[in-house]
Amino acid sequence: MKAILVRQWGGPEVMQYEEVPKPEVATPGPVPRVLVRVAAIGVNPFDTYMRSGNYSIQPTLPYIPGGDAAGVIEAVGPGSQFIPGQRVWIGNAHSAYAEFMAVAENLVHPLAEHLTFSQGAALGVPYATAYHALFQVAQVKAGETLLIHGASGGVGIALVQMAKAFGLIVLGTAGSEPGREMVRREGAHQVLNHGAEGYRDEILRVTQNRGADIIVEMRADLNLEADFRLVAPRGRIVVVGSRGEAKVLPRDLMSRHASLHAFTLFAATPAELAEINAGLQAGLENRTLRPIIGREFRLEEAPQAHEKILEPGAFGKIILTP
Ligand code: NAP
Repeated sequence: MKAILVRQWGGPEVMQYEEVPKPEVATPGPVPRVLVRVAAIGVNPFDTYMRSGNYSIQPTLPYIPGGDAAGVIEAVGPGSQFIPGQRVWIGNAHSAYAEFMAVAENLVHPLAEHLTFSQGAALGVPYATAYHALFQVAQVKAGETLLIHGASGGVGIALVQMAKAFGLIVLGTAGSEPGREMVRREGAHQVLNHGAEGYRDEILRVTQNRGADIIVEMRADLNLEADFRLVAPRGRIVVVGSRGEAKVLPRDLMSRHASLHAFTLFAATPAELAEINAGLQAGLENRTLRPIIGREFRLEEAPQAHEKILEPGAFGKIILTP
């Protein structure tokens, strides 16, 4: 089969499109495994961090990148609940940048007919992250005000849809006009431009100077210091993304009796992941969760996709198709 292989750490160019052995389905393990013919792959920012070699998790070289995908069950191992031909999505696995992937079936979920394979591949990490941030870390309540600082990307749009359905007052930011239009269309009550001078004053104005009860932050390196002054009294800041160091004034947080939370989805417990999957399943069935696909690239164009996902102007999810 064809796959993207990383043989050394480095820039997007270290990803090579190669012929590699098709994986075996029946590798023994505690959980039954399935072989999936991959139809779409979700590109996540951490795929790029991992490939560069500067991430907390380093797979053994050479490795096939990618955690999220969707496709069709090709074969099943002993004890599996799936059947060949079934449409599925896969979240937070590994070796997804390939024509086939063998995966433990606790990471595999049926894909409803109304969703495309690309939408299925957009679910895993972004939607699980959004659910974890809102319901398990921030423990939001209906009626609270939420600032999504970076609402136009894969995680941001998931947050908009979940928060709107749950009854939060949603403020979302995006850097481009198409991004802001999408955030508005998906249900945000107020949409701001995080590239515009004075937009933080606007956040205070629309919250009657209280600030937001919850801030979910995609660029803590750029925004955390200001977030400490944009959070409401007793509010919560949840750091989801950061590309570097942040300078903060703890007193801004102390005077608001506010709290700072941060996580990586890799550290979620099995019980939390089970709850996340149940929540996502319900949201997909009642159609409040509708992944938005921006750019699609061919699998062999993975290097371009890795460049694109780090550029400004996010618009939903970037997908690779084998
Ligand atoms: P993405 O699709 O590339 O979206 C990136 C988002 O960041 C876009 O909405 C982008 O807006 C926004 N952004 C850019 N500059 C910003 C600024 N100055 N202020 C606020 N937002 C800004 O990525 P994603 O998949 O949504 O992931 C978002 C972040 O969360 C990434 O850093 C990723 O690594 C991280 N993440 C963490 C976890 C975890 O477990 N903690 C899980 C998934 C993702 P514009 O392009 O419109 O400017």
